[in-house]
Amino acid sequence: MIPDLPVILKRDQHPISRRQIDDDCLKVLYRLQRNGFKGYLVGGSVRDLLLGRSPKDFDIGTDATPNQIKRLFRNCFLVGRRFRLAHIRFAGNKIIEVATFRREVTPEELPEDPREHLHFVQNLFGTPQEDAYRRDFTINALFYNIEDFSIIDHIGGLADLEQRKIRVIGDPMVRFVEDPVRMLRALEFAARLDFSLCENIFPAIATHKDLLTTAAPARVREEIMALFRYGIAAPVLRQCRELGMLPHLLAGYPGTDEGIAMLKQVDDRTRRGTNIDESFALAALYLRLFMDSCPPQRTTAITVALQAANEILTPHCRHFSIAAGIRIHARDLLVGCFRLARGRGQRGEQKFLRHPVTATALELFSLWSEVRRDLKPLRKEWTAIIRPSTQTPHSPARRKRKRRRKTPQPQ
Ligand code: ATP
Ligand code: MG
Repeated sequence: MIPDLPVILKRDQHPISRRQIDDDCLKVLYRLQRNGFKGYLVGGSVRDLLLGRSPKDFDIGTDATPNQIKRLFRNCFLVGRRFRLAHIRFAGNKIIEVATFRREVTPEELPEDPREHLHFVQNLFGTPQEDAYRRDFTINALFYNIEDFSIIDHIGGLADLEQRKIRVIGDPMVRFVEDPVRMLRALEFAARLDFSLCENIFPAIATHKDLLTTAAPARVREEIMALFRYGIAAPVLRQCRELGMLPHLLAGYPGTDEGIAMLKQVDDRTRRGTNIDESFALAALYLRLFMDSCPPQRTTAITVALQAANEILTPHCRHFSIAAGIRIHARDLLVGCFRLARGRGQRGEQKFLRHPVTATALELFSLWSEVRRDLKPLRKEWTAIIRPSTQTPHSPARRKRKRRRKTPQPQ
């Protein structure tokens, strides 16, 4: 049963209170409103507040154009080439992102001369309703209106929140072609929120999964890291394997049962509150493959392990343009695990024990020993002589603010 849209929930019909909204975000909303513009809280923050979760960040939608926003806020910087977004900066490196409502562009609409496309897209604004329609999932398209503290739902997101469903706005067959990363995001939100996927998502993934290879690697990299930061890498990558997406997402990653079991250990560690960085995630992702390609026998030289690690990590890092520093750290973690798996009493052990990467390698090795239980005695031996690394606990939901387009490029 589809409700009449838009559904508007008045202040007394929903649980979101201003006290839950970031102070600086409220300041921006109020200033927009005082100057005659609409000020809406949009996207993930409304969804999370309605679910009783604390949002990672607060994004704002408005009918003020980027230049109008800039005139209203001294601490405002416009970013993005195609889609101009306003970043309002506050103390402590806090950035509140303010985006003008926009709408989807159809290829037919674009000016004939490609040189005019950029100007056209930059100035293509829309109504709040059109803005809701261009978003990815219904639960991500809810608005909170600062004018009367109401929630506005143009798409049916409230009903889907209620039923705990991830529903693509429009036809997934079309929306996944527009932006293949949405396939991964669908699985990601389902795992994060423990929601189910609408049935029409599966045939659309089956048809269009190979388009994932055409997605911008930087965006895929960002979403993969999000899986690790939210502690959902194992279930989502397992599902990617089952749906045949893995080769199009991570060409060199085999996704074996043991490999996924290792990711489960990593996810549990993240959920217990340990920060995860990209080198640790990479090493965890490829540990099983690495150990297979270079079995840690006592006679195997470190140079062999170094080469095996490089051969596995280099194609991944090249494809995703991952900095050398991260790759080298991941390589050292893999080689560190190799040394640990070879056992004690090898040449260079003292130097290895003093090396800064060793404690983190032992953490990785300990997780691996939960999968390969025969390694447990070795783990015990090493743990007795290696001091733990000084990882700082964190809240699992924190991550660096992204600066990227919020809508796909028109075809
Ligand atoms: P998170 O808690 O991870 O920040 P979020 O829903 O805020 O979740 P973002 O990636 O920050 O996700 O994106 C903000 C909003 O932009 C989304 O809620 C969604 O409305 C819209 N959006 C993001 N990516 C896409 C996309 N690929 N296609 C359409 N809309 C998108
Ligand atoms: Mg967000």
